[in-house]
Amino acid sequence: MSIESHVLGLPGRDNALFVRLHAGQSIHRFLFDCGQGCIDALGRAEIQSIDHLLFSHFHIDHISGFDAFFRATYSRTSQPNVVWGPPEATEVMLSRFRGFTWNLQEGMQVHWHIHAIHQQSIERVYADLGDGFFQTHPNRTLPFRGILLDEPAFTMEAIHLDHGIPSIGYVLREKPRLNIDAEELHALGLEPGPWLQTIKHLPTTHEPSLEVKGKAYDANDLRKRLLRETPGESIAYLTDFLMTDEVRTDLVALLSGCGTLVCEGTYRHDDIYLAERNYHLTSKQAAELARDAAVETLVLIHPSDRYKAEEWRALLREAQEIFPAAAYPEQWKLMPTEAGG
Ligand SMILES: [Zn+2]
Ligand SMILES: [Zn+2]
Repeated sequence: MSIESHVLGLPGRDNALFVRLHAGQSIHRFLFDCGQGCIDALGRAEIQSIDHLLFSHFHIDHISGFDAFFRATYSRTSQPNVVWGPPEATEVMLSRFRGFTWNLQEGMQVHWHIHAIHQQSIERVYADLGDGFFQTHPNRTLPFRGILLDEPAFTMEAIHLDHGIPSIGYVLREKPRLNIDAEELHALGLEPGPWLQTIKHLPTTHEPSLEVKGKAYDANDLRKRLLRETPGESIAYLTDFLMTDEVRTDLVALLSGCGTLVCEGTYRHDDIYLAERNYHLTSKQAAELARDAAVETLVLIHPSDRYKAEEWRALLREAQEIFPAAAYPEQWKLMPTEAGG
């Protein structure tokens, strides 16, 4: 199991984050925001396999690529169509869905599930391609206590941030993984086989014996000797918000143990007055957050288009002075070179 992430888009342009979570037999795919041109880097089959589309907020630089996503997925029945976003998600998504003529799709049953994340609740509705998304079907109001999804392979957490409007931050965490200790297996004189999956998935309270190659073993004893738990990987996506003491405290708690933090670093610190006026971060503030939360790496995104490449590099240096493991996405080619370029 592992988490593989790709920042989409270019510096000074719209950005998004695409994540593949490998969970044994299956791969879960997540797209965070969908700015213009962002998904052009993904193949059609990949786009069609995205399980969850999660919006931070609906400023145009975070949603203007939605039509390209929808073009590839609107009639998808191979898997559920699931969208998450801030409180206005239902209104915004329905207006996007309804912005086309759907007479050729009449009667097709393709549900689109929209989740609007409020402070205390998640409002879930769905609309159907078959009636041109005309009717909305109230589905359920769920209590919201920070967790959006709790699946066997992962959890998705969310936090409300202040961008003058609500902006949602997301944290995806793999569940701890159970690996087999190969040396112990060898020491026991046992061969790998499907029975290893059985002991991985047995409830810990389960006590009967387990037969392996005709011999009975105590299942709990085998679990103790063979299974090693390693923490899962994790990634956070935070963009477009104002840093306050309160937000910093909440984020440090939320990001505890997090591996990769993908975070906006829009402005240089000299321009903090712009960051505060526009409800954004400086790269230094992002780096301070990464340091205080003790994440492993910080990937900076969303640098302002008011700067040129040299200033984007300076913006990165300001972050690295605080948190050395700060970087831009590699393909931006803005990292300092060995030659000091
Ligand atoms: Zn914004
Ligand atoms: Zn933005």
